[in-house]
Amino acid sequence: MVNPIKSKLSPGLYLIATPIGTARDITLRALDILASADVLAAEDTRSLRKLMDIHGVALNDRPVLAYHDHNGDRVRPRIIEALAAGKSVVYASEAGTPMVADPGFDLGRAVVEAGLPLISAPGPSAVITALTLAGLPTDQFHFAGFLPNTKSRRKSALSALAQVPGTLVFYESPKRVAAMLKDASDVLGGARQAVVARELTKKFEEVMRGTLADLAETCAARSLKGEVVVLIGRGDSSTISDADVESHLVEALETLSVRDAADQVSADSGMKRRQVYQLALKLEAGK
Ligand code: SAM
Repeated sequence: MVNPIKSKLSPGLYLIATPIGTARDITLRALDILASADVLAAEDTRSLRKLMDIHGVALNDRPVLAYHDHNGDRVRPRIIEALAAGKSVVYASEAGTPMVADPGFDLGRAVVEAGLPLISAPGPSAVITALTLAGLPTDQFHFAGFLPNTKSRRKSALSALAQVPGTLVFYESPKRVAAMLKDASDVLGGARQAVVARELTKKFEEVMRGTLADLAETCAARSLKGEVVVLIGRGDSSTISDADVESHLVEALETLSVRDAADQVSADSGMKRRQVYQLALKLEAGK
């Protein structure tokens, strides 16, 4: 155990990240802030107290406010008032980094709008942890949070991400992960490399790697438990988007000649023009 340093904090809202599994992933700075802030606020006050207990940080008689999506409008003014009165307030979401698919955004914005100090003490987040383990490119990535629950809305959301030139990262419920992978395979192409990262930093941590088609099959055959991040490698437009190219061509052929449709879809998709032209001829012949 480390002894947090209790020193007077300057006034401001301190956003701290908390562990996504292993309790010792808390940072020393987050512990110092928890030990010193005048007011504590958390998405889940019980989890925060437990974390403080584990690390030997005394609460003493400091107030602990619950701040989450359902009471933000009511509690935000109290926090702003405390900050305006020169107090230091620490905020933690239930696990990981506030605002990353978690509450805190409205609070941070209100603090900025009020011209009060906003301080971030960085630490764990499942998106970054999963990216570092996945073995997929990290030079560019797109965090898409949770996809919609219904199949049709999920497929539309995936289709809007098809051309993102980087690794896609999603948070997903273990109950829906097989269906999500199947939809992703249908929409983005089964050959794309993907990773399912489960229970990160915990006892049953597991990282599954494979193509979207393989992972969809593997996950459908298992009943997954715990917390899950799904990552999908960047598309290679020359190989992965055959289905997409075909549907674009069908649409283009409604108004354009074969030649013009092939020009347009080849430019949009990056697929070789000759290949697109051959496909357009086939589609036109089958009309
Ligand atoms: N703010 C958090 C962060 O910075 O990662 C995320 C909160 S979000 C409500 C919870 C989702 O994050 C879970 O459903 C899961 O997709 C992902 N997640 C959180 N902890 C995880 C872990 N230990 N392993 C895998 N995924 C995790």
